[in-house]
Formats: sequence, C-alpha cells, structure tokens
Amino acid sequence: MDLLLATRNVHKTGEFAQLLGDHFKIVDLNSFPQIAAVEETGSTFAENAILKAIGASKQYVDLVVADDSGLEVEALDGAPGIFSARYAGENASDEQNIEKLLRELRETEKRNARFCCVIALARAGRSLGTFEGVVEGEIVDLARGANGFGYDPIFMPDGFDKTFAELGAEVKNQISHRAKAISALRDGVSI
Ligand code: IMP
Repeated sequence: MDLLLATRNVHKTGEFAQLLGDHFKIVDLNSFPQIAAVEETGSTFAENAILKAIGASKQYVDLVVADDSGLEVEALDGAPGIFSARYAGENASDEQNIEKLLRELRETEKRNARFCCVIALARAGRSLGTFEGVVEGEIVDLARGANGFGYDPIFMPDGFDKTFAELGAEVKNQISHRAKAISALRDGVSI
C-alpha cells in the first residue's frame, strides 16, 4: 500500500522509509508538486502535524502521514520548538539555525534539550489520530558529524558521547523522537 508522507524534506522521508518501508511504499510531496504546502499556523507540534496531514489528504486518495518536529532547549524556555526550521529566519539554512542556537547558549552551562515529534495520520480530509515521540539529550559546544539533517550535529542523546550526526542513521533510527513516534503509530494502527 502507498503511504503519502506530507513533506518535501528528503531526510525525513528517508527515516520514515527505513522505519516503515517493509509495510508501505512511502512516497512524499516531491512526487506530487500539485499538492500545495499548508501554512504551519498551529501553536503546537500536534496542531501543525494535523494541519499538514489533513491538507494533503484532501488532495490524495489514500492514507497520509505528516510529522511536525523540533528541538526544545530548556535554557531557552523550550525554543526553538515549533519554529525550529525557521529559527534564524524564514529560509534559514541548517547551519544558520545551529549558529544562532549556539550563540544563544554561549553564556550558559545548562545544555539539556529534547527533540519532539508528533505524527498525524489522516484520510480524506479527516484526522485519524496523533502519535508522539521524544528523545532527551544535550546541546554540545561545537557542531560534530556529517550525517542526518537540521540540528543533528549539535544534539547528543542521553547515554551516548556522540551527536546524532556522528552516530548515523542506524543508531538514530533506533532511538530518535521520530523512531518513537513511528513506533507509536505502528502500535496504534497495528502494523
Ligand atoms: P518541520 O519540518 O516543520 O517539522 O520542522 C522540523 C525542523 O526541526 C527541521 O527543519 C529541523 O530544523 C528540526 N528537526 C526535526 N527533527 C529533526 C531531526 O531528527 N534532526 C535534526 N533536526 C530536526
């Protein structure tokens, strides 16, 4: 069965494909340029995930999943949170977002942070449920590693001495916020 992932982020699609690929053929919005991106006007990960899933499912016949995710840093009162992708500005690169975050944390020893992910499942314009995952860790002083995307080079999950970007896909996909949310989705829909 085809499952549309309502994203154009090929890194997210790769992680979903690795974790759900034996049950579904994962396709993303790069294969459907006619499906317009929805504006992320929600104030929580769940609200934004539902907006993205419902929006795409109105223009697609089968099941749709959307993920909204981000990094919450305790010393910054949970920022960048739902604004993670555009922390340093509307079309900011991963490098610019990382640079801004490290600048904001320059004066503080308190480095704990968490990645959060909420997945929404929808069909024909209706939400069928949401599924969450969180991974706790800390922000390192300097970006390290070449794998992954986003804030992976500065996030070191609890219990490891390497960043997600150093650990690589195999380890990240066992412990990440997205892996946990996908596992909750699999339990929720019994796959
Ligand atoms: P979204 O596409 O609106 O959900 O924005 C997610 C943003 O959060 C990404 O652009 C990254 O900046 C950050 N993010 C979410 N998940 C991850 C991850 O697994 N690794 C690194 N950064 C992530």
